[in-house]
Amino acid sequence: MTNVRQSLDGQSFDVVIVGAGAVGCTTARELAARGYRTLLLDRADIGSGTSSRSSRMLYSGLGYLAVRYPLWQMALHPVDMMRRLIYARDVMRCRAELVETMPQHLTRHRFFYPFRRGDRYPPWLVDIGFRMMEMLGGWRVPLHYRRSSRAEASSGLVDRLGPVTGIGSFDEYMYAWPERTCVDTALDAERRGATIRTYTAVVGVEREASGCTLRLEDRSPDRAGPATVSAKMIVNAAGPWIDRIAGDAGAPRVRGIKGVNVMVRLPESFHGQGLEAFSSKGEPFYVFPWRDLHFVGPTETVVTDDPDDVSVLPEEVDYVLSEANRLFPDLHLSRNDVAHCWCGVRPTSTIDGKTTALPVRVVERDGSPGLIAVTGSTIMLHRHAGRLAARAVEKRLGKRGAGPSGSIPLGPPDVTDILRDEHVVRLGDLVRRRLPNGLDPDLGRDGIEDLSHTAAAALGWSETRRAAEVAEFLADTAKIYPGAKTLP
Ligand SMILES: Cc1cc2nc3c(=O)[nH]c(=O)nc-3n(C[C@H](O)[C@H](O)[C@H](O)COP(=O)(O)OP(=O)(O)OC[C@H]3O[C@@H](n4cnc5c(N)ncnc54)[C@H](O)[C@@H]3O)c2cc1C
Repeated sequence: MTNVRQSLDGQSFDVVIVGAGAVGCTTARELAARGYRTLLLDRADIGSGTSSRSSRMLYSGLGYLAVRYPLWQMALHPVDMMRRLIYARDVMRCRAELVETMPQHLTRHRFFYPFRRGDRYPPWLVDIGFRMMEMLGGWRVPLHYRRSSRAEASSGLVDRLGPVTGIGSFDEYMYAWPERTCVDTALDAERRGATIRTYTAVVGVEREASGCTLRLEDRSPDRAGPATVSAKMIVNAAGPWIDRIAGDAGAPRVRGIKGVNVMVRLPESFHGQGLEAFSSKGEPFYVFPWRDLHFVGPTETVVTDDPDDVSVLPEEVDYVLSEANRLFPDLHLSRNDVAHCWCGVRPTSTIDGKTTALPVRVVERDGSPGLIAVTGSTIMLHRHAGRLAARAVEKRLGKRGAGPSGSIPLGPPDVTDILRDEHVVRLGDLVRRRLPNGLDPDLGRDGIEDLSHTAAAALGWSETRRAAEVAEFLADTAKIYPGAKTLP
């Protein structure tokens, strides 16, 4: 492994994967392990897209059983219910797989579910939902669900809730650092033979009888010339940008759902505890524990804008705070309590033009059999998505070898190794996605000067480039986390 960016021009691959988010990285690992000549590309850094904007939670998946139509109609929607159960089973399997194979990248928390008068879902139905999740795979990594009175469940967080008729408590996991999960997966793909190229955008796809040609543009500060590569197959794993890849346009395969999360400081007695509830709109709403802080959200809004152009709106922050105040009426949270906020766009699958949050899909373009897209995967389901994509490749190119065995070595190693081996191109790659600093309360801004000097020495940056990298990092931080401040 090396940071030298050799030209890709004229090279051919069995499969080119467009997008190095959670889905693209795991697909590359699956394919490289099976013996396909694989290229993983991203127009920016590994894990810098939606995979860095999530709620960082490895859900137990109860929310996926929550139907939006009236409950008495459940029996009238057997296909939908079956789809939900299959999805919930996949979620529980993936939860167990990730807990068993990457415990260092996860944190376990006690979460609470408040039962309130007038709830859409009666307590007995929620009990059944949790028990079903346990039967569908929760036995491998138990949820430890129980329903009790508020007094029995008493905790710093529970004690400050508004009126409740009971409390459900269960175990949930958070990703300590989803970006590093992407990086570690991509590096394991590379160990298994994949080629990785970041800051390389696909700007055109031409289909031919024997495969495809991709036109690439170098988006690194070096701005190397354009390149062309050929591939027998393309896996479009560009998340919410799937329908925006030039040359792969047609009927939409994803619909973007924008979500906003807001980081706040809650009372110290809430430390490490989380809450899962429904908002006044009936959407899942969470209080997520995050180190010494918590974040609340997300919102859910359908967006048709380019995901690059979405940003957090002040009214979205106010909505999230008002929902949190509805749950904890005596906290009186206001914008003064907000450390920072961020948003992202979920690439949900569409079927017959309708959005469905549920299935992870591998969709083949009509008339372009070698061109597939992977839609609708969360980070939690990324390995499942990668296996589905690999199966689609095997179907077309023929089976070659077995999928990856053994676990993924988890980083980070020390900074010298990172700078030598881990495809760091920009300072932000190092601060946000190779080291955990970018998710600290200061968002990696403290200590940025020191790190920039270390990176400059290892990567041969001039003083002008080093200063430009610091400026770029700070500008990017202000864009991703508008209004970020350090709370007293
Ligand atoms: C608010 C919110 C909360 C969420 N909460 C959770 C959660 O708690 N748990 C969970 O598991 N999931 C959660 N998700 C879902 C999850 O974040 C996404 O579904 C997942 O990250 C999608 O991964 P991906 O690899 O498909 O897409 P991305 O991570 O977006 O990867 C796509 C990549 O494609 C690249 N790309 C785009 N265009 C090009 C091009 N032309 N050439 C080359 N590369 C290109 C992008 O740079 C990007 O890196 C949440 C999402 C949101 C928005």
